[in-house]
Amino acid sequence: MSSEDPIALMVFTRDLRIEDNPALRGAANGSKVVCAFVHDAALRSGPSMDRGRMRFLAECLADLDGSLRRIGSRLEEREGVWVDEVLRLVAETGARTIHLADDVTPYARRRFSRLEAAAGRSARVWRTPGLTIVPPGVAAPEGGDHYRVFTPYYRRWSAVPRRQLLAGPATLRLPQTATEMGGSGPRGTEKRSRSETRRGGERAARARLAAWHSGALASYGERRDDLDEPATSRLSTDLHFGCLSPLAVESALVGRPGSVPFLRQLCWRDFYLQLLAARPEVAWSGYLHKSGRPATDPVAFEAWRRGCTGVPIVDAAMRQLAAEGFIPNRARMIAASFLTKNLGADWRDGARHFLEHLVDADVALNNLNWQWVAGLGTGSNPHRVLNPTRQARRFDPSGAYVRRHVPELRGLDRPAVHEPWVLGRRELARLGYPEPVVSVGEIGP
Ligand code: FAD
Repeated sequence: MSSEDPIALMVFTRDLRIEDNPALRGAANGSKVVCAFVHDAALRSGPSMDRGRMRFLAECLADLDGSLRRIGSRLEEREGVWVDEVLRLVAETGARTIHLADDVTPYARRRFSRLEAAAGRSARVWRTPGLTIVPPGVAAPEGGDHYRVFTPYYRRWSAVPRRQLLAGPATLRLPQTATEMGGSGPRGTEKRSRSETRRGGERAARARLAAWHSGALASYGERRDDLDEPATSRLSTDLHFGCLSPLAVESALVGRPGSVPFLRQLCWRDFYLQLLAARPEVAWSGYLHKSGRPATDPVAFEAWRRGCTGVPIVDAAMRQLAAEGFIPNRARMIAASFLTKNLGADWRDGARHFLEHLVDADVALNNLNWQWVAGLGTGSNPHRVLNPTRQARRFDPSGAYVRRHVPELRGLDRPAVHEPWVLGRRELARLGYPEPVVSVGEIGP
């Protein structure tokens, strides 16, 4: 490499890793590279950046900076209007190309378009796929740009040849302009609360993947819906922030006992992302049924949000969300079904609340799952209602999940732990637990 080599700007977004990162490899191909992350002021000040997510992101960036330093580079962090800051970096470094991981959310696409328009001829923008196992649009039906039903998509997706995994670059060379920049290093990490145990970053994520590979993966198919004992991978946040490449996860697990049902869930992830890529408007409107907006009752919504509906399994889910920024899939379905079907609320209000509090919050996965549960999404059944008491008996048979998250009910055995209303008003008042916000006929046995 010579001093004449072109300079590339690699802007990390939600691809916070160096292993199997196609955009980074593209940037490093024959160029000197400046690596940067821009904290988007519009996102940082919005509700989508709750403390748990900020902390996770800060840890990811610190880890990425460490990995880059080991190969001769470092991470330049900036904060402000995203497009302006990227262009400022172009001007400061003399970069001729800007490399980014492609994304499908309407917000990310607006940012890309603004950047492409503003960069004009001064720097060329390269967007490289890497968000999914199979890039959106590649597994498409004849004459169409996306699949709207999962099963045919899964069949087609399974048959698509995978690209080669890309090893992280062994070294990166900084241009002189970057060594003179002396910009900000990664910011201090946010303090973690006691209930947050997951550290952000590629190294921690790889350790979690290795533990999953040699641990509970084998029983995933039978146990993935269990609520009393957590039995899923908890890799969703790592996948959302791109600390793990989904293709690397697939390739590490394929052929292992338990991997077929697990990889099918990763296919659901690709499915929803390809759907949003093709139909960005479905982020906030039902894919199939654009029914009128039902009026959400503010009192019932508040009870749901605070985990005080008087329905233990729903309250356990909502309190877990508040405490940990996470809920297992089955409990997400139960809480979402209760809000939309039993309380008759607009799915968008629930989806917005989840997006504000989940550490793995992802517009495609969250909103399209909400639509599916509400019966408005692709492949969903408008008449399906999950009876919370039956779901609780089936997926939390010991009551451990409810006891863990609803301290008022800790002293109760089955079946009362799932139906405390059978104890009567006086006993509920003594426990300090509310009566159900809907009629027991709807939710009881
Ligand atoms: P595992 O069971 O170990 O699954 C492995 C991976 O497969 C997950 O990490 C995820 O990437 C993918 N996956 C699993 N289930 C689904 C699914 N139903 N749809 C799409 N992909 C899936 N997932 C998010 O990552 N972010 C969200 O904001 C989100 N919101 C949701 C809202 C609702 C109402 C529902 C019903 C589901 C939502 N999901 C969301 C999907 C799913 O609940 C989570 O991905 C999963 O619970 C994360 O835990 P895990 O990593 O242990 O999952």
